[in-house]
Amino acid sequence: MPLDIDRIRAQFPALRRRVNDHPLVYLDSAATSQKPSVVLDAERTFLEQHNAAVHRGAHTLAAEATELFESSRERLARFLGAAPEEIVWTAGATAALNLLAYSFSNASRGRGGEPAERFRLGPGDELVVTELEHHANLIPWQELAARTGATLRPIGVDDAGRLRMDEAVEVIGEHTRVLAFAHVSNVLGAINPVAELVALARRFGALVVLDACQSAPHLSLDLKALDVDFAVLSGHKMLGPLGIGVLYGRRELLDAMPPFLTGGSMITSVMMERAEYLPSPARFEAGTQPVSQAIGLAAAVDFLDELGMEQVHERDAELGQALVTGLTAIPGIRVLGPAPGEPRVGLAGFIVDGVHSHDVGQFLDELGIAVRVGHHCAEPLHRRLGLAASTRASTSVYTTDAEVAAFLDGVGRIRAFFR
Ligand code: PLP
Repeated sequence: MPLDIDRIRAQFPALRRRVNDHPLVYLDSAATSQKPSVVLDAERTFLEQHNAAVHRGAHTLAAEATELFESSRERLARFLGAAPEEIVWTAGATAALNLLAYSFSNASRGRGGEPAERFRLGPGDELVVTELEHHANLIPWQELAARTGATLRPIGVDDAGRLRMDEAVEVIGEHTRVLAFAHVSNVLGAINPVAELVALARRFGALVVLDACQSAPHLSLDLKALDVDFAVLSGHKMLGPLGIGVLYGRRELLDAMPPFLTGGSMITSVMMERAEYLPSPARFEAGTQPVSQAIGLAAAVDFLDELGMEQVHERDAELGQALVTGLTAIPGIRVLGPAPGEPRVGLAGFIVDGVHSHDVGQFLDELGIAVRVGHHCAEPLHRRLGLAASTRASTSVYTTDAEVAAFLDGVGRIRAFFR
């Protein structure tokens, strides 16, 4: 059954806003999505009824809070095809990627003993990323390379922004220790060939890190089937609260990896001169955790599951095609990424000939239409495509056909206005 978009929309209070005397047309969901009432209610109910420190204290509220927190982890695990011990809460995808990079450099300093051997890096080792990464999946690896003496190597993209698989075959080799790449580009909407890249990495025993920020809201994700070692995602882009994300890792890897942040709640015992750490996920969750946000994210995942991720994906693909087909038909518009008819998620980056993306954004905002402008934290990709900036429209489960039409109509008037 197709999604009932009107019924879905009614559950998102922010979508009732008016902006500049127009109904809000929110096409910036790839930056952050709006949140349904069930997510807002889940957070509010926790804070009003059950708020307490988790994993501590013998009182009723602490037990309730712990139960809600841990069952949210189980919920996320089920959603992603993982085990609860493989789900680490983080402040977001950026935090999750930094956690990994710092854990690897701690291993490289000899922390973690023999089990951490797998993560040790030094001169001669290579970290491979792609040219289309969000800065969150680039800079932590640059810094890790600088800390360990390893080398960072990119897989390039072609003029259309497609990943150069011929280059991937060249770059991924016996020195590759880590391959980190985005499942879906946050600028192009293109879906990268996970299976092919994983197969290349496996040939050389490299660890695979998948940035699933832009796929998790749109595609049904089974991380075990994708066969990646680690994955990160961002709660606030998938209808969940701000300040929550997930690091997924294979259990045996997480248990062998030294922690990044250290402190309370992640130890089995502490002596004056050293400490012993709990297994995953606790060893990566030092200090007070974003509990209400985790509960809110579990509610978001329930919401998505009730809609059905297959239906979500189907609708998303339809919106992606409507955006790219509509934009391509407007004179003076260059759409980035996959051509009409090629797979993409509901996201389209584009250029309006002769008009700066900031002016495009401002023009559309006057019409109540929210899009993202700039380099979208993907400066190397923009440089490769010969651009300083672009405009990006991105959809979610609440996006209507009428909104896409209003957006296309707005874009169609831009060049005449700035002429
Ligand atoms: N990776 C991609 C592909 C993204 O689009 C984003 C956010 O824009 C991030 C990582 C960073 O996510 P977070 O906001 O959770 O740190």
